[in-house]
Amino acid sequence: MSDLHNLLEKAYRTNDLTKKEITYLLENHSDEDREELYTYALKIKQKYYGNKVYLRGLIEFSNICRQDCLYCGIRVSNTKVQRYRLTPEEILACCGQGYKLGYRTFVLQSGEDLWYTEEMLVELLQAIRKTYPEAAITLSIGERRTETYQSLFAAGADRFLMRHETASRELYEKLHPTMRFEDRRACLNALKDIGYQVGAGFMVGLPGQTNADLAADLCYLKEFQPDMIGIGPFIPHSETPLDAEKGGTLEDTLVMVALARLLIPDSLIPATTALGTLNPQGRELALKAGANVVMPIITPMSVRKQYALYENKIGGDDPPEDCRYGLESRIQAAGFIVDLSRGDSRQFIAGK
Ligand code: SAH
Repeated sequence: MSDLHNLLEKAYRTNDLTKKEITYLLENHSDEDREELYTYALKIKQKYYGNKVYLRGLIEFSNICRQDCLYCGIRVSNTKVQRYRLTPEEILACCGQGYKLGYRTFVLQSGEDLWYTEEMLVELLQAIRKTYPEAAITLSIGERRTETYQSLFAAGADRFLMRHETASRELYEKLHPTMRFEDRRACLNALKDIGYQVGAGFMVGLPGQTNADLAADLCYLKEFQPDMIGIGPFIPHSETPLDAEKGGTLEDTLVMVALARLLIPDSLIPATTALGTLNPQGRELALKAGANVVMPIITPMSVRKQYALYENKIGGDDPPEDCRYGLESRIQAAGFIVDLSRGDSRQFIAGK
C-alpha cells in the first residue's frame, strides 16, 4: 500500500493532517489517490449531511467597490465596468422572487460599497426579516467596523461570508494593495464573536501560490473552524493586472474541496459558480468531492452580466426560474437531493 493511501486513510479516520502531511499529499498524489480522496470526502459528507444539497439565492446587489484586489474584475481601477447599485426596494423584491422559487437563504453580496450605510442596511435587513421571518440572511459585503457588524446582526443578519482569500501574508499583500492581512482576519474573528455563522475560504491557482500556501489555507480553516468554506479556482479577468496569468485548475480545486471536507467535516461547502464556469460539470464534481451547497444567482437579469468578478460566469442568461429548476435536475442527476430549508451548519445547531 502506498504512503499516500495511509495518509488519506488517516485523514478520513481522524479528520486531521499536519501542514507537512497536506503539502506532501499535494505534491505527490496520483490520479488514483485523487479518486480515493474524493471517495473519502463524499463518505464524510454523507455521514454529516446525508445526500442533501442546500440551495441559497444569491443577490449581487452592487458592483461598486472601493478596493483594488488585483484578481477581481470589479476592482476600483477597472474603468471599463458599467457600475450599478440595486436600491433597497429592488433587493427586497429580489428576495421576494427568490422566496417564491423556494429559497430560504438569501445571500446579499456586493463590492465594498459604502453608499449602503449602516442605517440603510439595518433598515433593509429589518424589512427582509419582517417579510420572511423564517429565512436566513447572509451578508457578503466585505470589511466594515465591528460596531456595524454588530448592528447588522442585531437587525437580522444570520451569516456572513468573507473569504480569507489566502493564508499567505506575502501573497495576500501582493494581491491586495488597498487592504491589510491583519484586518481581514480581525474581521473574521469579530464576526464569529458576534455570533454570525461565518464563511471563510480561498482561491486556488493564484499567481505565485505554492502547495505549502494551500496547505496553510487548510490549516487556517482547521484552526478557525468556519461554518462555511468557499473554495474556487482563480479565473483571470482581462481587465485586471493578472490578465495574462494561468488561473486555477478543476483538479487542484476539487482536491482542496475534498481536503476541506475531510479536515472540517461539519462545514457547509458550496460547489462554487467559479468551478461551474471552469468546467460544465465542475459543480457536480465538487458535490461528489464533498461539497453540499449550491448558490444559484437571482440577481436581476438587467444587471447580472455587470457583476463580473471574472469573465464568462455561468448563468448570465438564465432567468432565476431556469437556474432553480435546471440546477435541481442536475443535482438529482448527480445523485443528490435538493433541500430547501435554511440549512444551518451542524456546528451552529450544536452550539445553539
Ligand atoms: N466584497 C466582498 C465579496 C467579494 S466577491 C468581500 O470582500 O468579501 C466574492 C469572492 O469572489 C471573493 O472573495 C474572491 O475570492 C472571489 N473572486 C474575485 N475575483 C475572482 C476571480 N478573478 N476569479 C475567481 N474568484 C474571484
